Amino acid sequence: MERFTGSFTQQEPIPQEGIDAALRVLQSGRLHRYNTAPGELAEAALLEEEFAAQTGAAYCLAVASGGYALACALRATGVQPGDRVLTNAFTLAPVPGAIASVGAVPVFVGVTEGLVIDLEDLAAKAGQARVLMLSHMRGHICDMARLMAICDAAGITVIEDCAHTMGRGWAGRLTGRWGAMGCFSTQTYKHANSGEGGLLISDDPQMMARAILLSGSYMLYDRHRAAPPPETFADLRLTTPNISGRMDNLRAAILRPQLRDLARQCARWNDRYRAVEAELVATPGLTLVTRPAAEDFVASSFQFLLLDWAEPAIRAMLARCAARGVELKWFGAAEPVAFTSRYDSWTYAPSEAMPATDRVLAGILDMRLPLTFSLEDCALIGRIIRAEVSAVFQGDLSSPDMAAPNQTARAD
Ligand SMILES: *Cc1c(COP(=O)(O)O)cnc(C)c1O
Repeated sequence: MERFTGSFTQQEPIPQEGIDAALRVLQSGRLHRYNTAPGELAEAALLEEEFAAQTGAAYCLAVASGGYALACALRATGVQPGDRVLTNAFTLAPVPGAIASVGAVPVFVGVTEGLVIDLEDLAAKAGQARVLMLSHMRGHICDMARLMAICDAAGITVIEDCAHTMGRGWAGRLTGRWGAMGCFSTQTYKHANSGEGGLLISDDPQMMARAILLSGSYMLYDRHRAAPPPETFADLRLTTPNISGRMDNLRAAILRPQLRDLARQCARWNDRYRAVEAELVATPGLTLVTRPAAEDFVASSFQFLLLDWAEPAIRAMLARCAARGVELKWFGAAEPVAFTSRYDSWTYAPSEAMPATDRVLAGILDMRLPLTFSLEDCALIGRIIRAEVSAVFQGDLSSPDMAAPNQTARAD
């Protein structure tokens, strides 16, 4: 019986260019972004300039984390304590957490079987808030043209959480470039690795000036190279609170070479995604997520659905895959485990029942696809999942120590 022995959490090393740049920053001792020698350009400022150019955004701000970027964007768009903010029911804890951190109240919008925000549900709830924090969760991108039409008609400002879609888009337009602000994470498990870190992009000078002041720029905003002109700050500089969350030069130095390589890395992730997917086509009981032609996705993780499976059958399948070295995360568990989380487990944000969403969440299986996996690794993982899903689905109890319980999946 084949077993997988790789690590689902092992990322690639930092490229040598990033290590060299990091050493130069360390040797200089000037890690703080505003600590520059005469004539020197800070790595953080250069990173912002380069990411703005790369995304086509007018402005960019580098910050301490993706979660900070989300909260900063909410503040910069003027969200006040007590405001309601629409967001995805299928997302991770930092998203509703960012909303709660500014004293606002998340209003959850459902998820479809395509694992994107349910646009019918969004349209139905559009009157409840003036901001949508849209999470492109696990790299699944909804019909952005339709989403923007719904939001524009309702006067809703869109903030995009692009933690899982950095570098990719919908219908030829990058994620982070549809809404008023785009937020990215450069935390180790995302698409560029500085340990912790975040990026914010926008074309709106007022919002970006507020974001820069909020991040802790004191009166040094003219040292930024992807910022609105100084006059934009005139009316804001003394009225905007400093909520420190700057990025430092060390992280920026590590990130710059990685961002230059982003397109190639996205292609490598997708090769791995397709290698897993190829093994799972037409597996009875298993639903693959169809990727729309307009979705220019990057899949640094893999999701599939076991729709309408009974909980014991899912647990048996998880145990059997785990015994063969394949770590799957299940979004249906009543208690969140590790990085999984469900809208109804964020008890600080009371939610109404969403049966269609609950059905999808109860069927979502999720795994990371780090670039340290070879294509052969991915094919092996796919074969193991296929075998174990099939065994449980067909009620095959031939392996007594890992036998599936009698109430296995329904066949429909
Ligand atoms: C990781 C993540 C964030 C937050 O990023 P951090 O840099 O870890 O704060 C936000 N949204 C989603 C969907 C994420 O996965």
